[in-house]
Amino acid sequence: MIDYNFDKEFIWHPYTSLKNPTLVYGVSRGYEDKIVLDDGRIVIDGMSSWWSVVHGYNNSYINNALKSQIDNLSHVMFGGMTHKPAIDLAKKLQKMLPGDLDYTFFADSGSVSVEVAMKMAIQYHYSKGHSKAKFFTVRSGYHGDTYHAMSVCDPENGMHRIFSKTLPLQIFTSDLKVKPDDDWNDSHFDNILKEILALKNDIAGIIIEPIVQGAGGMKFYHPEFLRHFRTICDELDIVLIFDEIATGFGRSGKMFAMEHASVIPDIVTLGKALTGGYMTLAAVVCNKKIRNGISDGSFPVLMHGPTFMANPLACSAANASLDLINSYNFDKISKRVNKYLLEPMKVLLDNKVVKDVRGFGAIAVVEMKRNVEMTIITRELIKRGVWLRPFGKLIYSMPTYISDEKSLQNISDAIIDIINRGLF
Ligand code: PMP
Repeated sequence: MIDYNFDKEFIWHPYTSLKNPTLVYGVSRGYEDKIVLDDGRIVIDGMSSWWSVVHGYNNSYINNALKSQIDNLSHVMFGGMTHKPAIDLAKKLQKMLPGDLDYTFFADSGSVSVEVAMKMAIQYHYSKGHSKAKFFTVRSGYHGDTYHAMSVCDPENGMHRIFSKTLPLQIFTSDLKVKPDDDWNDSHFDNILKEILALKNDIAGIIIEPIVQGAGGMKFYHPEFLRHFRTICDELDIVLIFDEIATGFGRSGKMFAMEHASVIPDIVTLGKALTGGYMTLAAVVCNKKIRNGISDGSFPVLMHGPTFMANPLACSAANASLDLINSYNFDKISKRVNKYLLEPMKVLLDNKVVKDVRGFGAIAVVEMKRNVEMTIITRELIKRGVWLRPFGKLIYSMPTYISDEKSLQNISDAIIDIINRGLF
């Protein structure tokens, strides 16, 4: 029995008021790409639980890995101790990531991993005696809800307004308007280059979500931008950070979105699908330049160490999740999402209320001309057997990697139907 009244009165859900909370749905269990609601209704999860449960729910391979780990060691402090699940996981990440992205820090959530990546960049410059301390980023980005992560989120869609007095001030360039399939011309980077050169003595790092900007607006941009960022970072000794928390592990159609540009950052942050959505865990992986830069300096100790760092259960879930991830064909998964989810939704381009229908990898997005009413749209989607969590003007789906043609068709049918009937 779910005590909805207690939940409503005493428990904060994400981005809600406690006095007038938005409706929540009780969940009793999950299997495959389905969530079973408390009242027995079954919905297809078109969100992979905020892009994390990529293998679906109740995956027997991950379940078994956790069951055997729990009988050995659920947790032990990582200060002064280590364990096999963490070492195995760092080895796997090293093998999967390109170049010399070899040195792993395990953080306890995506936002914290962004904080650690930013601290690494600052410590790298500190060690070299530089006074650079600002971050350069792009509008429409999203990097998490903790303080420094917030400071590099989109200044309009993010939480800058409320926290502006206490947020570190970073440097934003405008949206990257060249789309992945548009023709590229190097002059597209001219303005950004000027902005960076003008502040080159202040910029410690550039942080960006490669190709896919997720929670900041579900926008996709041309991979060439990343190549140009890499070049200028090399020239000016700026640390390049890719936030692959949302895009990593196949969502963009390749293992990592950076592969679309063949560009390797100095630091990458990973999370979400890392554990298949089983537990909270993130990783910050840096290259030798950052590792040596910090370690050879006057302050060679990386200053971070959360209580639950490298939790063995979370690492075991991640090891099992990565085994599955390494067995998938992401090109095939993207093509399936494209064919059965995105392409059918293109009929909506004829509807006056729709601004755009776009996709990339295993992501499909409908952008409306006005904000949608989340409570109404969620209720109507659930009636049609689908779970999505639209925000602002965006109705989007990032389905699980195991969702088949039928599930994908159900999601697109439901979205088309509610938009055509004006139920938003
Ligand atoms: N970076 C990106 C690109 C994200 O999409 C998110 C979460 N949506 C985060 C950071 C923050 O991760 P977490 O919610 O695990 O703190």
